[in-house]
Amino acid sequence: MSDGLFAALCPTGAGLAREFVRTSDGQALSYAALRAASARAAHALVALGVRPGDRVAVQVEKSLTAVVLYLATLRAGAVYLPLNTAYTAAELGYFLADAEPTLFVCTPERRAALQPLLERLAVPAVATLAAAAGTAAAGTSTDTDIGDATDIGGAAEGSFQLAMAGKPEHFDDVARLATDPAAILYTSGTTGRSKGAVLTHGNLICNARTLAASWRFTSADVLLHALPIFHIHGLFVAINVALAAGASMRFLPRFDPALVLRHLPDCSVMMGVPTFYVRLLREAQLTREKVAGMRLFISGSAPLLLETHRAWRQRTGHLILERYGLTETGMNCSNPYEGERVPGSVGPPLPDVRLRVTDQVSGTALPVESIGMIEVKGPNVFSGYWRAPDKTREAMRADGFFSTGDLGRIDARGYVYIVGRATDLIISGGYNVYPKEIELELDALPGVVESAVIGLPHAEWGEAVTAVVVPAMPLSEAAVIATLRERVAAYKLPKRVLFATELPRNVMGKVQKAQLRARYAQLYVS
Ligand code: AMP
Repeated sequence: MSDGLFAALCPTGAGLAREFVRTSDGQALSYAALRAASARAAHALVALGVRPGDRVAVQVEKSLTAVVLYLATLRAGAVYLPLNTAYTAAELGYFLADAEPTLFVCTPERRAALQPLLERLAVPAVATLAAAAGTAAAGTSTDTDIGDATDIGGAAEGSFQLAMAGKPEHFDDVARLATDPAAILYTSGTTGRSKGAVLTHGNLICNARTLAASWRFTSADVLLHALPIFHIHGLFVAINVALAAGASMRFLPRFDPALVLRHLPDCSVMMGVPTFYVRLLREAQLTREKVAGMRLFISGSAPLLLETHRAWRQRTGHLILERYGLTETGMNCSNPYEGERVPGSVGPPLPDVRLRVTDQVSGTALPVESIGMIEVKGPNVFSGYWRAPDKTREAMRADGFFSTGDLGRIDARGYVYIVGRATDLIISGGYNVYPKEIELELDALPGVVESAVIGLPHAEWGEAVTAVVVPAMPLSEAAVIATLRERVAAYKLPKRVLFATELPRNVMGKVQKAQLRARYAQLYVS
């Protein structure tokens, strides 16, 4: 038996007095208060019938109590299953039927509407968690009472907070092996139904430590946290890295440029998706003075445009550090903290991570600069898909490498470049067209904000290369095609260039190419 994530990462001794997290409305928790609150929450989970190995499914707003619930679930030896707050009852039904949680936690507002679903699925226990308004005055270091007797009966209380009240502030963490599951995260799944990626305590602990060391986190850091906490980025990359370093977090309820700008001067690191950076650049208030205390800006979850890199550097003096990972593996690559950060690259593999590029058909490893399937192996790689051994087998190579579904290449220096999802690869007239290559050409044209290149059904070509462009000024389709004709081979040339005011993105900033393909499916069908 070894330590589970909480015991392994949460500071002890002198570190307990430090602040762990502070919300934008002034609620705060020291590490000591985090320990006490998560102990009370772990006792509440046990009282609700949660046993080691059980799943705790959670669909709640971002709040300090939600973070406490996450860590309490792990302390109780159970498996945390966060769900996107945007999921409808029908979507929720799929996840709950698949994961069979012992406990489902939702907001008080949704409780009544979900009752028929929860009854039909016979979910053994249900509790509510409210994102209570701040009680501590901003600027104080007072710990906010979470589920303490003092806030019983508060209008914004949920039944889970009530269940925590009066519980002991000490909990003996259930011992966990590194191979024991800590969380199940359903992947966005571009095709077919979402699969639950089972991440172990060992996966999360090693990735948090590696990232904290690679990005030089210390207890003096204040991490600006504006990400959702139902996704690996905001939950594991951000929270676990802060824990591993004994650092502090400034917790914003959501990404709001004005709120971020208000809190940036108190922070030293920000983790964001590319859209954060794009939207902040539109703010006149983003200046070098605003970021004077910042030492690092990190981006991931979707590709960062070269233009965003350039504009951010010009405005703030910082070169954004881009990294790459996915739900099943945690983080795999990162540009270096010291050393060259290469725009357009996600950097070399992290220590402990082995990465190779293979031929999609034969599976053999390819030489440097060849584009192929990115495969990774290391202590960060998940244990498999929940109750789906055949899907796990499909994704795992015989020698333990996981096939990420991303196409990319490695250069001679070991830097990795992501070309896009294999499912977005276009095969036109029998030739492979990598959308990224054409998108880079389009993005470099004057008057182009950004672009997405997709393949659409075409009687003659199988798939026709098609560009969707967001223009900054009126552009002509014929002129764009004519310019590109001089730059790319004929088989890669978009047959059509369509204009749109924006690209469809999900909450993590990923362009939804499946949505674009559906929108324009009939374009070449006569
Ligand atoms: P998720 O499992 O939701 O975290 O999505 C993982 C996917 O996001 C990866 O398989 C990549 O396709 C994409 N992704 C993550 N980080 C980057 C990045 N820095 N550049 C390009 N794509 C990325």
